[in-house]
Formats: sequence, structure tokens, C-alpha cells
Amino acid sequence: MDYKRVTAQKRLGQNFLRDPAVIRRIVMALELSAADVVLEIGCGTGALTQHILAAKPGWFIGVELDRGLCEALSNRYSSASVSFSFLNKDILQVEIQEHIGDFEATGAKIKVVGNLPYYISSPIIDWLGRQSRLIEFATIMLQAEVADRVMASPGSKDFGVLTLLVNYYFSVTKLMDVRPGSFRPAPKVSSTVLLLRPKGTLALDSSEEAAFFQFVKRSFSQRRKTLWNCLKGDVVRADLEALLNRLGHPAEIRAEALALDDFICLYKELKR
Ligand code: SAM
Repeated sequence: MDYKRVTAQKRLGQNFLRDPAVIRRIVMALELSAADVVLEIGCGTGALTQHILAAKPGWFIGVELDRGLCEALSNRYSSASVSFSFLNKDILQVEIQEHIGDFEATGAKIKVVGNLPYYISSPIIDWLGRQSRLIEFATIMLQAEVADRVMASPGSKDFGVLTLLVNYYFSVTKLMDVRPGSFRPAPKVSSTVLLLRPKGTLALDSSEEAAFFQFVKRSFSQRRKTLWNCLKGDVVRADLEALLNRLGHPAEIRAEALALDDFICLYKELKR
């Protein structure tokens, strides 16, 4: 499909990749083989899809919310020799498990790829976290400012809930920066491709994750105030101070100065 002939829908975050070098690097990073199951988020006009299918993975799932684009892709590949399905769905409503068919029995994990629609990049990252136990890795394009938040260190202005959410589930590597001119239409912002690789063991049982992230959100509810001020009403002051002291932190510390391990320890000791 020729992206030049498609009118991009801004409300769906449609900025189609047109830079062959960027497309090649993203697809190469997938290291595709016939044993792979690949899920692409937002196939658009197929800039990445066509190269992924050409590499003949074992199973391909393309998710695209735009009905016209999704139908065009299904028609285009109807006689392809690769096993695939295109789902005209909101990615946030997709449960990977329901779409991997016989591959689930093989224990194969999914390679996720996507030049994400930026208007929902944070909810998609949240979705990836929840599906992380089924994922081998995810290669995703984000606006650079969001990627900076994902990779931020404690104490920096970008460090926050998103950083902790991603780093709870994944080890993060930056693959490359991408300039606006690599897309059509060109977005107003620069972009970055990140590789998210799920951590082998997670610190908490999946049943506790929602409560843990609620605790993290509460801790950042008033960024300029101390952790105690944010958690007042939820925890006993003396317990918090004793724990912070044990972790080597002052009682007046703010959430942005604490690392993921500190949050996990605080949650386990204070909230359970
Ligand atoms: N992969 C194509 C490319 O690189 O040229 C398109 C990328 S474009 C940035 C994002 C795509 O995600 C668009 O095609 C858009 O229609 C689609 N999209 C937007 N919201 C979506 C959602 N909630 N679920 C699935 N796809 C979505």
C-alpha cells in the first residue's frame, strides 16, 4: 500500500514510517525465524508489516484500529504463504493469549513490534507490562520525551510512575533516535525506538501488581512534597520513617529520589 495516497488520521496517531533505513533496523532487531510469533501494534499502511511477513515468521498477528487500513492489509496478503491474522481492534482490548493458537502449546513467546500511536503510548506500555509474561521482547517507537521518562534515573525530573512501571517489568535498551522527517506526515516531536525485554523473575505476584502501582501513584501524587505527605492517611509515620532509615534514606525524602527496589520494599513492608 502506498502511504502517500492514504490520508493520515491525526486522531489515530497516524504517522507512517517512510525511511527505509529506520524500517530495516527495526525489522532486523526482531531477528526473525520460522519459529517466531510476531504481534505488530498498529500496522498502518504496512511499512514494517511487509518486511516482517517477507521474513516468514511462524505466525503473525497484526492489530490495526483503522478498519480501512486493516482490510487493505488483509486483502493484500490474502494469498501470502505465511500464517497470519489481521485484527481490526483496539490493541488495549487484545489479550495475546486468545490469538496465538497452537503456538501456546510450544511455549513460544511473542515478539512485539510497533511504531506506536503516540496518543496512547502510556496505556500501551501499561498493556505490555500486563502481557509481559507472554512476551520475548517488545521493540517500540515512542516519542523521545516519553522514552526519556522510561529511561530516567532516580532524582531526575523525568523519573516517575512510568519509569517505575516499565522498569518493574522490563530491562530497557535504546535502539535508536528517529527524526521527524522519517515519517509522513512528520510529527512535531522526535522519536526513539526502545527494546523492552521482560525480566526473568518479577518481584511481586501478578495479583499484587495493581495495588503496587496504586501505591507508586500515591507516592508521586504531589511531586514537590515529601513521601510522607503523599502517603499520609495510608501508612503510619513512624513505620515509614523507620523503614526509610533502614534503607538509608532521610525521613523527608521525596518519591522521585527512590529507586524501584526501594518502592518494592516499602510496598511489601507497609501495605501488605
Ligand atoms: N506501523 C505503521 C508505520 O510504521 O508506518 C503505522 C504506525 S502509526 C504511528 C500508528 C498506527 O496505529 C496507525 O496506523 C493507527 O491507525 C494505529 N492505531 C491507532 N490507535 C490504535 C489502537 N488503539 N489499536 C491499534 N492500532 C491503533
